[in-house]
Amino acid sequence: MMLRSGGLLVDVRLVGLVLMLAMGLNPWPLAAAAQPLVDAHLHYSGVDAAELPPAQVIALFDRKRIQAAVVSGQPQWAVEALYRAAPDRILPFLSVYRGPADKSGWMHDPDLPRRVAEALRSGIYRGIGEIHLFAEDRQSPVLAALVAIAAEQDLMLQVHGDAAVIEEIFAQAPEVTVLWAHLGTDPRPQVLAPLLARYPRLFVDTSVRDERFVDDQGRLWAQWRKFFIAHQAQVLVGVDTFWTPRWRRFSEVTARIRGWLDQLPPEVAARLAYGNAARLFGLASSE
Ligand SMILES: [Zn+2]
Repeated sequence: MMLRSGGLLVDVRLVGLVLMLAMGLNPWPLAAAAQPLVDAHLHYSGVDAAELPPAQVIALFDRKRIQAAVVSGQPQWAVEALYRAAPDRILPFLSVYRGPADKSGWMHDPDLPRRVAEALRSGIYRGIGEIHLFAEDRQSPVLAALVAIAAEQDLMLQVHGDAAVIEEIFAQAPEVTVLWAHLGTDPRPQVLAPLLARYPRLFVDTSVRDERFVDDQGRLWAQWRKFFIAHQAQVLVGVDTFWTPRWRRFSEVTARIRGWLDQLPPEVAARLAYGNAARLFGLASSE
């Protein structure tokens, strides 16, 4: 848009650009938005599907440049309907829960491995989870059965739990791939670094932890920058739509993720955003 100002033609866009640069803002947000993401932690349940049918989820992914996503939820029909809407973009994980009550008691249910093995026969699942489990239950025979199924069928395990659980899973099956949700329960670089170094099949997702990576100006903390660079092959990003209101904030959360990713060296940001998931799930390269 051109405006006349004191006899001169002034390009409003140019003035805006100069102002943004003077304020230290990124004047090219479109460039940042262009980075495709794979979301490694989404849930899509029956109540989500009632508000946001599969076609709308895929349209949202298109707008936000979500190339693919790990999705679990109950009941299974919701995840499977989403998968059918875009089989090349939805990476379904099998929830072992029949409903919210199972979240805290599943590890004591001896019939669970049989149900899981049966549900896996559809052949669409890439992993099992998200399972919630903490140190006191790490010797659960039900967990051991799930670990054995994951190892045998080459499925990933998405685990929300503490470090002792991760250590137990790798003691049982060192070849299994674990996606450790939310950077674990003690999400500090000094806690995570030795575990990531010890277990090459361990991957972490940063979902719901985005705020802790930046100061109140949105600047990436030096210790997290160092951590992401050092462990760039084992970190994935995610929104974690743990309930329907979180789906309504999807744009806001993906913007926040891109806000800290963009402060990393571009090749590191590309790995966290896309490359690591592409390698794990055999997706096409984003280039
Ligand atoms: Zn979750």
